[in-house]
Amino acid sequence: MKLVVATRNSKKLLEIKEILKGMDLTLLSLDTYKDSPKVIENGKTFKENAVKKAVKLARFTSELCLGEDSGLCVDILDGAPGIYSARFSGRDRSDIKNNLKLLKLLKSVPWSKRKAHYVCAVALADQNGLVGTVEGRCNGLIAFEPEGAAGFGYDPVFYIPKYKKTFAQLGEEIKHKMSHRYYALKKAKWIIQKYIVKQVVS
Ligand code: IMP
Repeated sequence: MKLVVATRNSKKLLEIKEILKGMDLTLLSLDTYKDSPKVIENGKTFKENAVKKAVKLARFTSELCLGEDSGLCVDILDGAPGIYSARFSGRDRSDIKNNLKLLKLLKSVPWSKRKAHYVCAVALADQNGLVGTVEGRCNGLIAFEPEGAAGFGYDPVFYIPKYKKTFAQLGEEIKHKMSHRYYALKKAKWIIQKYIVKQVVS
């Protein structure tokens, strides 16, 4: 069965492929559907945005589609950047600028108040509409400076106390077993399995 992933973020796609490997699925991305409609991410929650991406792409492709929306929520910033994680540093945004803005905002904040978590919402939809939604979360702290080169986005500043390292230092092998995306996709796998069985039976 085909599963179309609604993302243009190649690093995210690699993570999703890695976590879903072993399933009887052919993963396609928006690279296969270059003229697919743009989705405006104006939902108020990660879930709303994930649903929008999945449903719109499923209508377009008539395949089972996976929409994903994720981001970083920092306690002392009342959950910011949240759904605005990708565009935190404004129009000229980049991962480096987003991280620098975050570190500046938290400059004099002690370790005890640097709690944060990543959230990943996943929605599955087919041509008939929404099939299911799930969410995953991963807790950590915001480091005082960027460390490491693996991953993407806020990984150089997302510090995992258990390992005393950032996600960017820990690398994929560990990240893919404890990330917000891993926990969301672990639940999504069940929905996909059930969906496949239903298709075979009917
Ligand atoms: P989206 O593509 O609209 O879902 O934006 C997600 C944004 O959240 C990314 O651009 C990153 O800034 C951040 N983000 C989400 N997941 C991760 C992750 O696993 N590591 C680092 N940053 C992430």
